[in-house]
Amino acid sequence: MLRIERHDDVTRLHFSTWRSRRAGYSVSCFAVRGMVVDAAFDDAGPELLGWIRANKPEGVIVTHAHDDHGGNAELLARSGVPMWMAPDTETLLGTPQVRGWHRTWAWGGMPLLHTPFKRFEPRGLEIIDARGHSPDHYVVWDPQTETVFAADLFLGVKVRVAHPVHREDVRQQIGSVRKIAALKPKRVFDAHRGLLKDGIALLHAKADWMEETVGAIDQRIDEGWDDAAIAKNVLGNETLFTYVTFFDWSRANFVASVRKTHGARSASR
Ligand SMILES: [Zn+2]
Repeated sequence: MLRIERHDDVTRLHFSTWRSRRAGYSVSCFAVRGMVVDAAFDDAGPELLGWIRANKPEGVIVTHAHDDHGGNAELLARSGVPMWMAPDTETLLGTPQVRGWHRTWAWGGMPLLHTPFKRFEPRGLEIIDARGHSPDHYVVWDPQTETVFAADLFLGVKVRVAHPVHREDVRQQIGSVRKIAALKPKRVFDAHRGLLKDGIALLHAKADWMEETVGAIDQRIDEGWDDAAIAKNVLGNETLFTYVTFFDWSRANFVASVRKTHGARSASR
């Protein structure tokens, strides 16, 4: 299902399927300045392509290689739609990834990007490195309207779960959230929540909460606690969601990510 929402110069393309809605998932692409930010998930492919054929944007910017943002990269490549993506995103989209069944259920497949595609330069928009959520996470900045298309930078203030450590770096994420908040964006569009009300305050609240939480975890690591005990003490019990996703998203992953960079933190002090 595609729902269109207009915000002056920005059009939100809000995609979901009955299966993704049952899991509480949906994702949005945003059309701005004749370009589209993100390529949604596999099952949304026909609707996305239909919209692109009708509206003829100059190209599609893929913010990162997750299946709900780059899930149609191969379809767009085969359909001759120009794309911009960072080299690391391109590499990841061409490499098979381990995906939890809940992602396949909600989003559909993850066709690998193997077709050479037309490239375009997103003129008038800036791409900003905002890694942490994934090793290849970028956000899109419109300097004229001071608008940020934040992809998965925000998601929520208190996101207590993280992906496994090889894919998510919680400490790096704090720096990225602070960096984007420092731009003082007038509008923040989140890929899952749409236009955020008071986006700057939410970004600061997120960075503050994360910093405080990471600080509490660092302290317990110094005291010799193990990951499971820290996760329970600082973040609370794992929820059903963690078990349903077979630990793809878990509080233990959050702690593990903090532990992985704990040494570097001590060395830099
Ligand atoms: Zn993501």
